[in-house]
Amino acid sequence: MLVQVALPVPLYRVFDYSLPANVHALPNTIAIPIPPIGSRVEVSFGRQTLIGIVVAHISEANSSVPLNKLKPINRCLDAEPILDERMLKLASWLSRYYHYPLGDVLAVILPTLVRQGKPLDLLITHWRILPNITDDDFHTNAKKQKQQFDMLKLHGERGASEDVLLLEGMQRAFLKTLEEKGLIERYIEPKQAPAPVKLAKMPLDLNDEQKLAVEAIIAAHESGCYTGFLLNGITGSGKTEVYLQAMQAVLEAGKQILILVPEIGLTPQTRERFASRFAAHIVLLHSGMNNTHRLQGWQDCRTGHAQIIIGTRSSVLYPFANLGLIVVDEAHDGSYKQQDTLRYHAADVALYRGLQANIPVVLGTATPSLEHLKLVDDGKLVECQLLTRPGNAKPATMQLIDARLQSTHQQAQDDGARYDTGLTDALIGAIRKTLEAGNQVLIFLNRRGYAPVLLCEACGWQADCPRCDAHLTVHYNSQSQHNTYVSNSYLKCHHCDWQSYIPTVCPDCGSQNLDAKGMGTTRLSENLHAIFANPQTSKELYPIIQIDRDTTRRKDSWENIYQRINEGTPTILVGTQMVAKGHHFPNVTLVCLPNADRGFLSADFRSPEHTAQLMIQVAGRAGRGDKSGQVLIQTLQPDNELLLKLVKDGYLSFARELLQERKMMGLPPHTHAALIRCEGKTLTATTQALKDAISILPNAHNLAVLGPIDAPMSKKNSRYHAQLLLLAKDRRQLHHVLNQWWEPVLALPNAKYLKLTLDIDPVGW
Ligand code: ADP
Ligand code: ZN
Ligand code: ZN
Repeated sequence: MLVQVALPVPLYRVFDYSLPANVHALPNTIAIPIPPIGSRVEVSFGRQTLIGIVVAHISEANSSVPLNKLKPINRCLDAEPILDERMLKLASWLSRYYHYPLGDVLAVILPTLVRQGKPLDLLITHWRILPNITDDDFHTNAKKQKQQFDMLKLHGERGASEDVLLLEGMQRAFLKTLEEKGLIERYIEPKQAPAPVKLAKMPLDLNDEQKLAVEAIIAAHESGCYTGFLLNGITGSGKTEVYLQAMQAVLEAGKQILILVPEIGLTPQTRERFASRFAAHIVLLHSGMNNTHRLQGWQDCRTGHAQIIIGTRSSVLYPFANLGLIVVDEAHDGSYKQQDTLRYHAADVALYRGLQANIPVVLGTATPSLEHLKLVDDGKLVECQLLTRPGNAKPATMQLIDARLQSTHQQAQDDGARYDTGLTDALIGAIRKTLEAGNQVLIFLNRRGYAPVLLCEACGWQADCPRCDAHLTVHYNSQSQHNTYVSNSYLKCHHCDWQSYIPTVCPDCGSQNLDAKGMGTTRLSENLHAIFANPQTSKELYPIIQIDRDTTRRKDSWENIYQRINEGTPTILVGTQMVAKGHHFPNVTLVCLPNADRGFLSADFRSPEHTAQLMIQVAGRAGRGDKSGQVLIQTLQPDNELLLKLVKDGYLSFARELLQERKMMGLPPHTHAALIRCEGKTLTATTQALKDAISILPNAHNLAVLGPIDAPMSKKNSRYHAQLLLLAKDRRQLHHVLNQWWEPVLALPNAKYLKLTLDIDPVGW
């Protein structure tokens, strides 16, 4: 008997190893005669020692390696498989579909500590509130402490692991204080199965559309068959309530639920929505976890202890004991596509796992991707529509403001000179009216920093990144006493993080006439401050909250921003795409998009789709409470047909038209794409490598080869990028070609000096 082992090496094969005559005698080994399929073994590989996964048992006769060349395994790490048959099948499907080596796929799937060979049963400190303690035992005037105590309470009688609590914002010192006061206790987890899930709060009365959706999902669950759903519900239509009530049936059947969410910034709110409905063991999975916590979460999923799992993209690769339902919230979101190593799409993997486990999968969104609409057309997804908002809430009205007809507002500076605020008087008037009525305004600008370009007015020089084909963004703040988030002024590349000071004279011509051009969130916030400040004291009349990567870097900054917004006083929010993602701001009644429609002019054929999704998602933040909402789009291209279609007929009919266009042009999702990227020291070398690759491409009918062309940003971080796109009508045909071609491409003589990657179903170039 031999074992076949998948090793974390970039080779498209597995490796045969023999078993020593007496496995028991190996040092540090688990005493079992044969390491089971799905367990870890340590082996020698060249001069390295590696840990791999046993993927098959084979007989000596079936090995391609001569008997005297076979090496024995060094040791067995597990008595039981750590990956069951389903997980191994998932890994092999991922390897085949994404043309990525099996050993590397497993390296992506397994948490770091598992890959390093750590035992799975780590003991972890947990904290819980003592059983006889009530709210009356803990009184404090400190809001923060009360909050932390409530958070611990949410975890129920079994409490939670220290890691989880710290991650949620609990302070270690506070745990100690509570322990000294005799309110809580710590215990080391010898894991027991959690209590069955209990309903903590009554469900809402569903409207008819919601009812239909919930019934369809529950019927699929009860039939024990896979069904993929597209829950196509306008923003604010109550998709979460549909998830919750479908989940209830599945949880009552004792099954686990996986909820994928786009970003961790959202997860604290998301967790609360689920935790307030169900008393359950809820596990959060995201990239901010440390290795121990990740292993803990992985184990909880694998053993079935985790009942509700809320996680970002990679959680779709976790092992589950008895999964009963997968929800992919905001399924159109770009963050579900992994952009390096194993380039999987979490929604596609979710559908595969649903099929594998015979369970329903729900893709929920207000702005379905064209891929998902196509799956509905092909009968592969069942569509459930939610077209109304429950209760009194009405979808916001959308209106265009022609920025060509109305000049933008000029604001006077201290020295009398005037500058352009980038906002039309109509927009400013609407903002003022909204604030005076006691409501909040959200202004969307998808550009952080002060300005996107620094320009010499004398000679036309622009500050560019020395390492990328990109302008440097001006970061500057004239009012740092008002804003604690930006401390100084500098130029920064948003692609490689290169930074420099802001020159005082033009490096080319020496002119002092340097000007920051264009508008970033910081500049817009400053302009708004100037417009809406008290003219006598220049004091802020309304708080202006800037929401972008620069202002939310700190761990608890989102929490603070959320709190400030939800206090509900009239406030102006200025945000990048971060504000588009599913947030619930009940007091926002006006959403302004001063130039969101620029994306309709981009060269990327996906840009109109993504731009529209972003616009509709941002617009969806308006009027989510009882008050009706208004959306104003300030544009320089009010005749743009796409824009008009979107505003008049709505996202769905807009998307249908794009889908038709893609069909005519033979573009995805009507064809299937593979993108080959090549990265190297010169553009000539990368382009040549792709030409060499084309020269060995097997003759294939119905395969379009586009390129090689320079990547949209061909120089990035001092490396050059070229690319090649393959398009095929038939998915199988594409994969058939890739199966024969991709490994020889990687073996081309020049490939050694270059980085060649293959991206199946790419979502951007
Ligand atoms: P979506 O995720 O579709 O944008 P949400 O799930 O956030 O929308 O729901 C929007 C609001 O509507 C929430 O405040 C939610 O509590 C409320 N809601 C949802 N369903 C109902 C219902 N059936 N009756 C009353 N309110 C509801
Ligand atoms: Zn100059
Ligand atoms: Zn750069």
